[in-house]
Amino acid sequence: MSGDLLERAGAGTAAGPRPLPPLTPAHEALRAEIRAWVASELAPHAAAWEEARSFPDAALRDCAARGYVGLKFPVEHGGAGDAVGAAVFAEELARSGSGGLGAGIGAHAGIALPPVWKFGTPDQHERYLRPGIRGERIAALGITEPDTGSDVAAIRTRAERVEGGFVVNGAKMFITNGVRADFVVTAVKTTAEGGHRGISFLLVDTRGPDGERAAGVEARPIEKLGWHASDTALISFDDLFVPEENLLGELHGGFKLIMVNFAWERLMMSLGALGAVELVLERTVAMLRARAVAGRRPGQRARHQVAEVATTLATGRALTYHALRLHLAGADCVREVTMAKLATQRAAYEAADRCLQLHFDAGEHADPLVECAVRDLRLGPIGGGTDEVMKEILGKTMGL
Ligand SMILES: Cc1cc2nc3c(=O)[nH]c(=O)nc-3n(C[C@H](O)[C@H](O)[C@H](O)COP(=O)(O)OP(=O)(O)OC[C@H]3O[C@@H](n4cnc5c(N)ncnc54)[C@H](O)[C@@H]3O)c2cc1C
Repeated sequence: MSGDLLERAGAGTAAGPRPLPPLTPAHEALRAEIRAWVASELAPHAAAWEEARSFPDAALRDCAARGYVGLKFPVEHGGAGDAVGAAVFAEELARSGSGGLGAGIGAHAGIALPPVWKFGTPDQHERYLRPGIRGERIAALGITEPDTGSDVAAIRTRAERVEGGFVVNGAKMFITNGVRADFVVTAVKTTAEGGHRGISFLLVDTRGPDGERAAGVEARPIEKLGWHASDTALISFDDLFVPEENLLGELHGGFKLIMVNFAWERLMMSLGALGAVELVLERTVAMLRARAVAGRRPGQRARHQVAEVATTLATGRALTYHALRLHLAGADCVREVTMAKLATQRAAYEAADRCLQLHFDAGEHADPLVECAVRDLRLGPIGGGTDEVMKEILGKTMGL
């Protein structure tokens, strides 16, 4: 890797101490271990999984068996209690060359299981969190609906109170892991009005103990521009009974859960985008160096483009690690996390696009990994809250 070019934020300058907090030497060792695993076990299959529009569940289970799914969660639940390690994992996973694979594993470990940990009862930890950390049950988070994305308070999927639980009717759109999931952490309306005070979360079993699709649930894959290896689905619920004990967190208190969850999701998306840009930049620099060795030194324009991408990567990393440090310290960091997401997502997509252009300008065949990154990174300014929504949040933090 071109480590001489790419100083990691948190790793210090060439002359300074390394690594800088929150990273420790143990995290650098973990990074090397994950990088080797990604290179040997995931990257060789990335193209085939993209082509197949899915990766095997076994990849997620292997990830869990190695302890990577559980990095963030407490030891008593079978995790490692190492949120910084989970951040390192998010960056390194992006180097597989398949954004869809990272999305699938990330949706399970980074957005669907955390609310089960934070808001779940001991019984729910036993039935959902622990098997999730072990990779035995795969999770999805279901908030978005066919008619509602950014405005999460406007969801329509309804959970009617009945004896012993709820009956759910409605649909969830663009759900990552939607077909493969064993359970969906699902946002539902529990009052007729819904809105900020009328949303709750249910742990919805989408498969029975035999692995068969539960009656009252249907999941259909959705074709999309990027994240090809990710299983994205439209899930419908038709008079689905969900028992009382599967209410996650407080009745009508689901909006808080959504807000709490966003911080980690946005940090993970920022780290993933940085990991992807790093890979794309390395491959572009390697291509230009190989041409220079062959006597075709890149022109000034190409060198400047590379310099700008490297700077985008370094600034995004500095801001993201700053937000991560605040988050880990328990500080109010809505503003910094929002800025990190806003600063990294479109910038990562544009950086990858520049690198793709450099391959074309050089007259080289497009690097399939760079092409894939461009497709995959287009999701960044949309998922986990769009760029416009990030700007709205920042405006509010400034009293506007
Ligand atoms: C591949 C993929 C995977 C996904 N995975 C999941 C998942 O696992 N679980 C899940 O719940 N969701 C998931 N999503 C959904 C994702 O979170 C939403 O797409 C996103 O929140 C935006 O919602 P929307 O697509 O309905 O767009 P809309 O909310 O309809 O927005 C359309 C446009 O209007 C703009 N806009 C909206 N509101 C405002 C405003 N107030 N001010 C200014 N502009 C505004 C938006 O920025 C956007 O440009 C996924 C989406 C994709 C594409």
